[in-house]
Amino acid sequence: MESSENKKCYVCGSCEIENTGYSLRDDESIKVLRCKRCSLVFLSSFEHINKDFYKDGKMHSGNFDHKKWLEASYNDDRRRLMMLKKTIKGKKILDFGCGAGGFLMMAEDYASRVAGIEKQESMRTFFSENNIEVFDNSDEIQDKFDVITMFHVLEHLPDPKSVIKELLEKLENDGCLIIEVPNEDDALLSLYGCKKFADFTHWSCHLYSFNKKTLKRLLENTGAKINYIKPVQRYGIANHLYWLIRGEKGGHNVWKKLDNPILNFFYKNFLKLISKTDTLVVSISKKA
Ligand SMILES: [Zn+2]
Repeated sequence: MESSENKKCYVCGSCEIENTGYSLRDDESIKVLRCKRCSLVFLSSFEHINKDFYKDGKMHSGNFDHKKWLEASYNDDRRRLMMLKKTIKGKKILDFGCGAGGFLMMAEDYASRVAGIEKQESMRTFFSENNIEVFDNSDEIQDKFDVITMFHVLEHLPDPKSVIKELLEKLENDGCLIIEVPNEDDALLSLYGCKKFADFTHWSCHLYSFNKKTLKRLLENTGAKINYIKPVQRYGIANHLYWLIRGEKGGHNVWKKLDNPILNFFYKNFLKLISKTDTLVVSISKKA
């Protein structure tokens, strides 16, 4: 539909938009566009994401199981805990888009209070059975938090700036908002140009795909102070070689011998050095 097409860049306002030529893994009717001025990557339409999309668990397309969700996020939950355990020690934390609550359950050992925001209704019983305090949306929250986290959520939001502004309101004056997103400058895209990976990683739920430059610009537009933008590499060399040779995901599970800690140490640090990691983590605060 012509009327619902996005014709203007959300970050810089430019109308000079090009088609990346990438496909979405789950919807052929939507194009993956790029702003020629600032390089923001975004979908040609957001019409498919209505207000009940996440509430009804449509992201999981009917195959929802909270145990599997927890298992699937275990390594990421653990990595995030290791990365943030000093930051959250003795603090009140809120995880926006907390999913199955894996990070929150781990964070309970460090933080003084943990709470989440999750729209998916089918998680309610699980949260109450496990005594995890979870809200439907930020309007329900009266308190302020020291640390608010958002792991792989920002790229799903049609208007990320307004959500960031809302969350900054829920932050203590000396608090920080930690945001993790996939990086559009992932080596598989920007170094190797792996088309198979490009057509897999872009999907209808990721309305935007940020790189360091576009993320920085978006955050500056919210009026927040940027504390740091950190490159993080989740996947190792086995995963990358498998994509390049076989054109498929999951190489770290198949070519386990190649997923060697020493190789990965050097490979991941090299990707950090050249700013082509698969993930970016930023910390922002309110301006004094
Ligand atoms: Zn732009």
